[in-house]
Amino acid sequence: MKVPLLDLVAQHQTIRDEMMAAVTRVFDTQQFVMGAGVEEFEREIAAYCQVKHAIGCASGSDALLLALLVLGVGEGDEVITTAYTFFATTSAITRLGARPVYVDIAYDDFNLNVERLAQAITPKTKAILPVHLYGQCARMDVILEAARRHNLPVVEDAAQAIGADFQGQRAGTMGVIGCFSFFPSKNLGAAGDGGLLTTNDDALAAQLRMLRVHGMEPKYYHQVVGINSRLDALQAAVLRVKLQHLEDWTIARQRNAERYGQLFSAAGLAEVVTPKVHADCRHIFHQYTIRAQRRDELKAFLQKADIGTEVYYPVPLHLQECFAFLGHRSGDFPETERAAQECLSLPIYPELTAEQQQYVVSKIVEFYQS
Ligand SMILES: *Cc1c(COP(=O)(O)O)cnc(C)c1O
Repeated sequence: MKVPLLDLVAQHQTIRDEMMAAVTRVFDTQQFVMGAGVEEFEREIAAYCQVKHAIGCASGSDALLLALLVLGVGEGDEVITTAYTFFATTSAITRLGARPVYVDIAYDDFNLNVERLAQAITPKTKAILPVHLYGQCARMDVILEAARRHNLPVVEDAAQAIGADFQGQRAGTMGVIGCFSFFPSKNLGAAGDGGLLTTNDDALAAQLRMLRVHGMEPKYYHQVVGINSRLDALQAAVLRVKLQHLEDWTIARQRNAERYGQLFSAAGLAEVVTPKVHADCRHIFHQYTIRAQRRDELKAFLQKADIGTEVYYPVPLHLQECFAFLGHRSGDFPETERAAQECLSLPIYPELTAEQQQYVVSKIVEFYQS
């Protein structure tokens, strides 16, 4: 048996005809940048995300950059965030000349530990940038309360959390701006790069729409210096087809997570910790990430058994070479560093079968019992 980490070819087979028809329609119009298809996608995704405005852009990384740009983050500012995330969460901050101030993560959900948030806030703090890692929201009630007390905007990195809820609220709608990615391997993936900003604030939405087209409004009149970060019409067409299936795919991911939970609890392995889902969260399982003893050996063993796994992320951002100027050392964020040693993401994609999951868990049992 073979179990890839993700099987986008299998997914494409289920929607191939709709997809090719949608792509053909774009080619027939020869309108490739922005346009009616992008606007329709923005309306549909805004409804799905339960937010007033959705603004397409070129990538999740650009969404983060645009969000901080519109909030005026710059030289000398601090942005509170986590070091246990994809690179782009921090690079958006440093690119604008601001400094990331890291808060260690919580053991149970890999997200920013809100008990440590208050002590990170200084007079230089300009924004708080939590990440909803693996598809489960950070503890937004505490984050929003701290932000309100200090009059700070919250930007949500919801790149892995489309359709996730926290206490009944959708990811990307609780802070002033939400940032999403349509990188092909995300739960809603384009046929290339794409990204999205969400906000309920009319003025911010208007500014973001301007910033993504070089700060241009009207045509060839530039009030501010923006960037070129548009969503292609082709990507919007692809995403509109997939959006119709997203809810079903999410439910399939949740069903698979539940099945892993049953299989692991039946196996009773002391060496594996399965993901915790908070009772007030809708986890959309972008990743199903366990903590595993002898993680690297386990990963190699599973690889030999044709089971794809991945480590998200092996090097926390405070220890990356390019951020050495921040002056952090190993040991600064113990839970972050521990997670980087222990975490292992297993296949959780919607098309995964029960037999494949049994095979994955049986191989993990075999590894620890031999
Ligand atoms: C994928 C991802 C991004 C970046 O998105 P791109 O579309 O690849 O630029 C940012 N943050 C997190 C947490 C991500 O998972």
